[in-house]
Amino acid sequence: MTDNRVVVYKEPGKVAVEKSDFPKLEIPREVADGLGIKQAAPHAVILKLVTTNICGSDQHMVRGRTTAPQGQTLGHEITGEIVEKGDDVLFHEIGDICSVPFNIACGRCRMCNEGKTGICLNVNPARAGAAYGYVDMGGWLGGQAEYVMIPFADFNLLKFPDRDKALEKILDLTMLSDIFPTGYHGAYTAGTTTGSTVYVAGAGPVGLAAAYSAQLLGAATVIVGDMNADRLKQAASFGCETADLSTGDDLADIIADIVGEPVVDAAVDAVGFEARGHGQGAEEEPATVLNDIMNVARAGASLGIPGLYVTGDPGARDNAAKQGQIGVRLGLGWAKSHTFVTGQCPVKQYNRQLMNLILADKAHIAKAVNATAISLDDAPRGYAEFDQGAAKKYVIDPHGMVVA
Ligand code: NAD
Ligand code: ZN
Ligand code: ZN
Repeated sequence: MTDNRVVVYKEPGKVAVEKSDFPKLEIPREVADGLGIKQAAPHAVILKLVTTNICGSDQHMVRGRTTAPQGQTLGHEITGEIVEKGDDVLFHEIGDICSVPFNIACGRCRMCNEGKTGICLNVNPARAGAAYGYVDMGGWLGGQAEYVMIPFADFNLLKFPDRDKALEKILDLTMLSDIFPTGYHGAYTAGTTTGSTVYVAGAGPVGLAAAYSAQLLGAATVIVGDMNADRLKQAASFGCETADLSTGDDLADIIADIVGEPVVDAAVDAVGFEARGHGQGAEEEPATVLNDIMNVARAGASLGIPGLYVTGDPGARDNAAKQGQIGVRLGLGWAKSHTFVTGQCPVKQYNRQLMNLILADKAHIAKAVNATAISLDDAPRGYAEFDQGAAKKYVIDPHGMVVA
């Protein structure tokens, strides 16, 4: 059987592309044993990767900020072509090109039945929810590879209706596996609607996708905050206002200058626990963004929090944060009756409609996040540049299928 190649985490700051076995139609041993189910997976397919993106979520592991072991395979943003399928895959065919939600979901449990596919109960014995190529997420192999196995394929795969059109728009469609739905979820659960004023913290790919989605939802004004000048420029390129937090100016004052009052209708955290304080060269302060959004969101607001928070952070500066305990001013949000929407984005709730928008030429997400294709061998460079804050979303193209 042909070998596979996959991106693996080596040590803090270092990834490599390594040979591995060709994937099998089997679920991970830890899931099978932990849940007492059989390992054989006739419900699975093998995908040949068309595109697979590097994510800020991968960076938490690669920066040594999680308990990911050496050799952890990476990659949860998967778009591919079916090259093999089990005999219980009834509604997908060899040759279909599909987007895969980064959340692995069984389609059979209570949470999946409620559409909450980010917290499926049958794919990870350690906790609710699983993902490909991620620490504590069930041991599923990563998709920054040439080939990857996708379980419960009839439930998880979103087929693109037309192959040629899909390949033509692949840099947009590749964002359906994570950041477009995740950004949309952030903006949507923050209550963004026609005429809203919106603050999005973070101008990484998720923040840009949230800002772009807020515009799709009809926001009057979208303000994106970050300290990274290139990324703020990227946000401005599609009509966002920007808040440069490297200056140390007060965020509420910046917002007041733009919308006429120091509050917004909706606010999104697209940063997570590696947040830094405001001002040039500020140190890490993990609760900064949560406190910022409580501060600037109107009373009664819902806060969209796709930014990731961990239960353990070996690289944290103090002991409390090492346990995932950070200095959140909960009283501030409580006093304003804020609602918090956290957790993995349930990608399946949004991916089909966002695909339709892309195919109808009404959403240009690749341009908004500055999608940039690289080869699989260039993945280590992509990781390094992304870590340095490049205003790009790196899309790995393992088989040279992305048309330049
Ligand atoms: P990224 O690391 O590229 O972007 C984060 C940005 O936040 C950086 O540009 C950084 O300069 C900026 N930042 C740091 N401190 C800030 C502050 N105080 N205020 C404003 N901006 C600040 O990451 P990304 O790929 O855009 O992902 C963002 C977050 O979303 C990550 O935590 C990631 O793990 C998470 N994520 C969650 C889901 C989900 O389903 N919930 C899915 C994908 C990604
Ligand atoms: Zn991701
Ligand atoms: Zn399930």
